[in-house]
Amino acid sequence: MQADPPRYYRALILGAGTSAEAGVPVTKNFRATARRVAGSADGKVRDRMLAVIDHWDRSFSFYNIEELYSYVELCEGAGISLPGDPSISTDDIRFLILATLGNALARVDDRMRNRYSGFWSRTASDSLVLSFNWDNLLDIGVTGATGLGETLDYGPIPIIPCGFGSDGSSPTTGHRTLVKPHGSTNWLHCKRCGNVHVYPSHLIPLQVSIGGSKVNCTVCGDGSPLQPLIVPPSPQKVTGDPSRQPFAALWRLVAETLTQVHEVHLIGYSMPEMDLQFKLLFRETLSRNTDLEKVMVHTTSKVGYAWTDFQEHFVEILSPVGKAGLLSFREEPFGRYAGP
Ligand SMILES: [Zn+2]
Repeated sequence: MQADPPRYYRALILGAGTSAEAGVPVTKNFRATARRVAGSADGKVRDRMLAVIDHWDRSFSFYNIEELYSYVELCEGAGISLPGDPSISTDDIRFLILATLGNALARVDDRMRNRYSGFWSRTASDSLVLSFNWDNLLDIGVTGATGLGETLDYGPIPIIPCGFGSDGSSPTTGHRTLVKPHGSTNWLHCKRCGNVHVYPSHLIPLQVSIGGSKVNCTVCGDGSPLQPLIVPPSPQKVTGDPSRQPFAALWRLVAETLTQVHEVHLIGYSMPEMDLQFKLLFRETLSRNTDLEKVMVHTTSKVGYAWTDFQEHFVEILSPVGKAGLLSFREEPFGRYAGP
């Protein structure tokens, strides 16, 4: 029996660097940004954001937002009590993340949005795009801010489009594939049926939940409120929390693609320590890929040791499987990659 032909010629793997240029906070400036956003927010939103930030400062100041999220999640799952009274939950942390990102996303102007459309116009449809970012800048680059532009394929997860055009247009049927293993600011998950509800960006569901009205699952109806679906770069990528289960098929697609593609491009993605499981998957799948011709890393300019260390990091990842010879590095941040 003949194997299916590969679906994708190349994989583009995008990290925080692709969002930082639009003013979306990344790990290192997240807390300062969250504090500033909280300071200008109203009433209940400000109080809930500040409660999380205060707790974070008091008990876990040495953790970044991803580490904080992962640790609180571990404690919830294992029944380990957290310090502090009142304590914080993963719901609170997701709220802080969504409120902070929502504020940054609302400030993104047309010029910047065009950069994301530009990225897609230079990306051929035989490319699988994988983004670890929670924000939906790349999504908007395809669908437009109202979701009525070109359609987008989010890969094999159970998507239910909500609030899109009356002509039935939705972001789920397009020729552009965007895989988001850490979820998205415009996704909500139903614990009961497991479906992922996707909203166009101008209806970012956080706004609805902040306004106090819960959004119910369109399949299960009342009594099954949807939860934001943003996943920390947790070691438990697909098991544990039921909201991870929709991602199982998506990770299989990523693994299958990386064993077959001819090219891999890493753009604004430094493969941080927190993404350990992806690093292992990346290495193992590329080790079995006999068609692989190049692994190109596109990044911002760095000088001296910073540049050497950056390159060495990727060489160390691919050397053990004999693929480091395919690595090349280009000083080309996302904005330049995406074109004018
Ligand atoms: Zn449901």
